[in-house]
Amino acid sequence: MKAAGLRFLLDHTAAQIDADRHALTVRDPDGDERAIGYDTLIVGTGAVPARPPIDGLDTPGVHVLHSMDNVFAVHDRITLPSTRRAIIVGAGYIGLELADAFSHRGLDVTVIEMLDQVLATIDTELAAPLQDTLTRHGVTVATGVTVHAIEPDGTQLRVISDDGGDRTADVVVVAAGVRPNTTLAQTAGAALGQRGAIVVDRHMRTDVPDIYAADDCVETWHPLLARPTYLPLGTTAHKQGRAAGANAAGSDTRYAGSLGSQAVKIFDRVVARTGLRPHEASTHGYKPCTVDDHKAYYPGATPPRIHLTADADGLPLGAQLLAHTDAEVAKRCDVIATAIHHRLTVADLLDLDLTYTPPLSAPWDPVQQVAQEWQAQHPRGLAMTGSAPG
Ligand SMILES: Cc1cc2nc3c(=O)[nH]c(=O)nc-3n(C[C@H](O)[C@H](O)[C@H](O)COP(=O)(O)OP(=O)(O)OC[C@H]3O[C@@H](n4cnc5c(N)ncnc54)[C@H](O)[C@@H]3O)c2cc1C
Repeated sequence: MKAAGLRFLLDHTAAQIDADRHALTVRDPDGDERAIGYDTLIVGTGAVPARPPIDGLDTPGVHVLHSMDNVFAVHDRITLPSTRRAIIVGAGYIGLELADAFSHRGLDVTVIEMLDQVLATIDTELAAPLQDTLTRHGVTVATGVTVHAIEPDGTQLRVISDDGGDRTADVVVVAAGVRPNTTLAQTAGAALGQRGAIVVDRHMRTDVPDIYAADDCVETWHPLLARPTYLPLGTTAHKQGRAAGANAAGSDTRYAGSLGSQAVKIFDRVVARTGLRPHEASTHGYKPCTVDDHKAYYPGATPPRIHLTADADGLPLGAQLLAHTDAEVAKRCDVIATAIHHRLTVADLLDLDLTYTPPLSAPWDPVQQVAQEWQAQHPRGLAMTGSAPG
């Protein structure tokens, strides 16, 4: 990047934007400030970890996870010989990935989640087998439990929750989501919208002249909802950043939006999702129809589970998949994300020439099998206008 002419001010903080004078105040490591003029400015300040209302979050041994520095501190703690037991607060994808990683390191792991299921971004029917996977690998999972306080208990930490459970650990990690870091953008007077994220248009322009913004600090356009939402993901941040950079340099690049596609590996399982869940679809005026398909394809194969949600007219709206890591469900999810992006119908999915070899798939790929299942259950949908399996 340096070779391309970029100049880096590492260990500097962008403290203030004077939008009228087109000047950014930066603070160096010694605390000295100076102003840098700009023609266009891009804000990419990311997110900060959410700090849930739990007393004792700053107790030594308690980590609120987000940055690499946080991770190094967790690593230092778990590699102490005295660290045997870990409690993770939050069963989102980061909390569950941590449970997997800590278990592989030989720690005794408990995950506490205030909602009634792990991974609240997927349907309960898939969250339940995922929770079984965690349990099968020795992780204790407590759902429907809210943590109120964490306090020192000798050399350990005591986690106090509303179920009266008495849990102690050597390390506690809180992974309770993120919120947009908008402090800098607010000094320029930028408007905030969804979940407090910076309002941007499809060209990643804020409402302040010549200031663009991208990544976990901004709203994200959702093509199915046709409105902004907040989807702090690496995939989203990269594409927004590219659009913002191109436009700040004079291009005319429109950010296509995000369907919230994501995948996570937990022990020997992968969960992937894209688009809308049935209740989200119906909330936004669609008439969603969801089918659940699970089949085995090969001796020893574990059956993938796929939920396909489509509008009553046969336009795919979303999918959720759960399977063994060998079943490649993340890439199957990507097929459905591609179909949603290009407004293919469920019937169009059947026309796709997808690969097949017995250890990996079937002549009708699992994505197509669930599409057939959808057609069988909704014969009057637009789905029937495509070519049916012969
Ligand atoms: C443990 C973990 C696992 C994840 N896994 C996935 C995954 O599998 N898939 C996926 O899609 N996403 C994943 N994500 C999310 C993904 O990492 C983020 O969406 C992505 O990093 C966001 O990039 P960003 O540019 O918004 O933020 P960051 O990468 O956090 O960059 C923002 C930078 O701005 C700096 N900054 C902030 N304010 C100022 C200021 N005033 N002056 C100067 N610098 C400032 C910060 O120090 C930071 O370096 C994961 C996140 C975490 C924490």
